[in-house]
Amino acid sequence: MVTVLQTLLQRPRPLAEIDRAALARFLTDLIRQQVYPASLEPTSEGVFFLARDGREKRLGILSEAGLHDFEGARHQLSLDGRTLIFQSCPLTAANARALRQHLAWTAPRPLGLRASVGCGDRLGLATPGHVRAVRKHKLAPVFAQQSIREMTRTGRTPQQVLDEAMWGVFQEGWRQGYGADADHLKTEEDADRCIEAGFTFFTIDPSAYVDNEVDTADAATLEAKVAALPWDALETTLADLRRAYLGQHFQVGPYELSFEERTLLQALAKYGGAIAHTARVYRHIAGRMGNRPFELEMSVDETEVPTSPAEHFFVARELQRLGVRWISLAPRFVGRLEKGVDYIGDLEEFEAHLKLHVAIARTLGPYKLSLHSGSDKFALYPLFARHAGELFHLKTAGTSYLEALRAVAELDPPLFREILDFARDRYETDRATYHVSALLERVPKASDVPDDALPALLEQFDTRQVLHVTFGSVLTATDADGRPRFRDRLLAVLQENEETYYRLLEAHFDRHLAPFDAE
Ligand code: ZN
Repeated sequence: MVTVLQTLLQRPRPLAEIDRAALARFLTDLIRQQVYPASLEPTSEGVFFLARDGREKRLGILSEAGLHDFEGARHQLSLDGRTLIFQSCPLTAANARALRQHLAWTAPRPLGLRASVGCGDRLGLATPGHVRAVRKHKLAPVFAQQSIREMTRTGRTPQQVLDEAMWGVFQEGWRQGYGADADHLKTEEDADRCIEAGFTFFTIDPSAYVDNEVDTADAATLEAKVAALPWDALETTLADLRRAYLGQHFQVGPYELSFEERTLLQALAKYGGAIAHTARVYRHIAGRMGNRPFELEMSVDETEVPTSPAEHFFVARELQRLGVRWISLAPRFVGRLEKGVDYIGDLEEFEAHLKLHVAIARTLGPYKLSLHSGSDKFALYPLFARHAGELFHLKTAGTSYLEALRAVAELDPPLFREILDFARDRYETDRATYHVSALLERVPKASDVPDDALPALLEQFDTRQVLHVTFGSVLTATDADGRPRFRDRLLAVLQENEETYYRLLEAHFDRHLAPFDAE
């Protein structure tokens, strides 16, 4: 093995599976840390790998001269009379940045127009489980993804979100590229923090500028709403828009769209402010990114009233006129897309709308349709697979936290009981900013459930939602001494039993990804 290592340092080559396992065993003995075989990467500068020392993970580098841009401990190793430098580096932001420079595959990048899946991770431990599922299926992965709202609630920075996903990518040796989605950005300042951290995908959420009260507005109110729009930012006039839309027939795939005066004014009043805001933030991001490639999504999923096909068409056409370039768009779909549970609504109606939305995305783009709150929507996946093809992005976030709680229910029932009762207390407060309909009286008290029935609570609609929306309170709760009440214990259980967590995640994401495997 010493000779294999020496040759690798002189002439790096991709490792066969069998060499990888043998080399990992050899290094594990040599440095007395558990080396992750999939992470091993021989390069002309040295051999890189991730290793585990108790609960702590470290970046390891074996080289002839040492690499100066990594911080950490340096040791000299003597192997068959030759001296090598072994660097054992903490997983700091500086080391993460240096690794992205040395191993390009560890850096996020735009994914292009391929069907894709976003795997949000509120704890920063889930990526290896996500990788194991993604490997077996076709959707291209976004492993780093969190909204500013969820970062605030979990006390994480954009840099942590990106770096923790990156270390997971490195651990599992995922070399085929991944995206990093700064989700639900509401302001230019939000965007700046994520650009600084290295994100490559920006989701602009202009929902604060969407007017949800146009459907029932009388003509005078509607006209007043239209008159109050930021016309300067829209760079057009009502007269020009009337000329562009009224009396026209727009061919959209097999469908034809036309606009009555009322349809136009409603689309304009509802989304005019959101279009202007999106264009402003897009130009800001484009300016800051300079010639670094990036992707953009526009999302209005978190609004009250569904986006009609005509409104979708109008928004896309007007964004185009303002020079915005985007890879995906998240309309507010019909029916109820609640957190952590399957679709609630009429599937035939959903399918009819979806076909029109896809036709619009194909005609005016092509760009992808993004399904937010996309986890657990098993009834919808066959419809997207059938109609959208590559023009689809599935966005999931909280579902991986629920799998973490399932692991805790299996591994540490007392801790799970504490979290469950705490979540029950928090639910009525924490549900405010989420679309959920769980009833507290249907969620059992922890003391009423025997240990071996705890994991199955994660299958129950109401319990799922109650646990889903209370993550921020659970992760930031403190005891009387100001110490974290659950967070450290939760992370410890998952870190000490990481294979259990990965196994649950892999199985859960298999169910999400398999419907998209067929041609
Ligand atoms: Zn969303």
